[in-house]
Amino acid sequence: MKGVTKMKVLAIGAHPDDLELQCAGTLAKYKNQGYEIFMCHVCDGNKGSKVHTSEELAKIRRSEAIESAKLIGATSIWAGIPDGEVVLDLKSRIKIIDVIRQASPDLIITHSPNDYHSDHINTSRLVFEATYLSDLVLWKTDYPPSEKLPYLYYMDTLAGVNFVPEEYVDITDTVEIKIKMMNKMKSQLGWLKDMHNCDTEDFIKTVAKFRGFQAGVEFAEAFVQQKMYPQGLTKRILP
Ligand SMILES: [Zn+2]
Repeated sequence: MKGVTKMKVLAIGAHPDDLELQCAGTLAKYKNQGYEIFMCHVCDGNKGSKVHTSEELAKIRRSEAIESAKLIGATSIWAGIPDGEVVLDLKSRIKIIDVIRQASPDLIITHSPNDYHSDHINTSRLVFEATYLSDLVLWKTDYPPSEKLPYLYYMDTLAGVNFVPEEYVDITDTVEIKIKMMNKMKSQLGWLKDMHNCDTEDFIKTVAKFRGFQAGVEFAEAFVQQKMYPQGLTKRILP
């Protein structure tokens, strides 16, 4: 939050496509406002296919994540944990501390603790724990400590299931770039259609329109802030 320093936002999603579906409109808006953006995918996405081997798929999804991040000039960070293997242990905690330290962000966005998928829920928990630890100078890892304690926000769940928003971001101007980012996840478009009969463009627009109705704008994304000492807000942080 300092004068000439470019503010930094770090979004941490479990699978390559979670950030694209849940908060990419907000990331694009932050980018337009001059923020530096980091997008971390915790899992390597190696199980979301009936066509590829896990090894092939992880490589494909790494390159898709980079292509998606490029669209908003974001830095892609890859934690490389296999799908379904995000667990709450010390090794994972240190891994996420290092993700945060690589970005040293002013603000972090991740999954809601009330999400429905174990990788999402455990990512949420690991990010919550690591957020409070990443600036401790006596906790030695591969990266230097973060410069500050970041704000932490939880993004919407898929289709808004079990999520009661507290804040909204108007993404009317960025919903199209959000769809373009999701379209970079080519390996997932057919998979989501096969598995859940989900047309991702329709999905993104319908959810954003629904959240938009709630916020009184055309398209919106929804968030909840994690309350933490000493971060009670006297002003809005989201764009
Ligand atoms: Zn996911």
